[in-house]
Amino acid sequence: MRVVVATGNRGKLGELAALLAPLGVELAPQSDFGIDSPPETGATFLENALIKARHAARLANLPAIADDSGLEVDALGGAPGVYSARYAGEAADTAANNARLLAALENVPIEKRSARFRATIVFVRTANDDAPLIGAGSWEGRIALAPRGSGGFGYDPLFELPDGSATAAELTPEGKNARSHRGAALRALVAQWPR
Ligand code: IMP
Repeated sequence: MRVVVATGNRGKLGELAALLAPLGVELAPQSDFGIDSPPETGATFLENALIKARHAARLANLPAIADDSGLEVDALGGAPGVYSARYAGEAADTAANNARLLAALENVPIEKRSARFRATIVFVRTANDDAPLIGAGSWEGRIALAPRGSGGFGYDPLFELPDGSATAAELTPEGKNARSHRGAALRALVAQWPR
């Protein structure tokens, strides 16, 4: 089966490809079809994932997978949440988002820096699929006092395991997939995959 992946994020595409390889699904990024990401106007990860998947399925005329994900920081009342990709502004890059997160948590001690990544992944057979497959996952950790590591993407250098032993950016790709919100969400999706 050929499936269009509704993301422009290379880091995410690689993680999804590794996790879906066992199903024999051929993944094509939406950029292969000249598809841009639609505005993420939903209030939840699920709504945004469905907006992205339906948009890609409609334009590529193929089944589509999309994920929406973000970071929830308890000391910030759950922010940045669905706004994680644009925490430091619409055109913000990873460096700006990470700098804003560290600044927002200045003077917050390590024991009050609990956080979690959340991901929701959906699969639609067509743009108007009324029974999408949905997988959700989360990953508990805390926000480090300073960035460490060069793997992964996004907030990974600032997201450390609850015992502080490593940040997500210090894990191998396999180590991250085994623990991550996206890994858990995708395994939940794969468990429902038609076979
Ligand atoms: P999305 O593309 O709308 O799902 O944006 C999610 C944003 O949350 C990303 O741009 C990252 O900033 C952040 N994020 C989600 N998953 C991860 C992850 O596994 N590592 C680091 N940052 C992540």
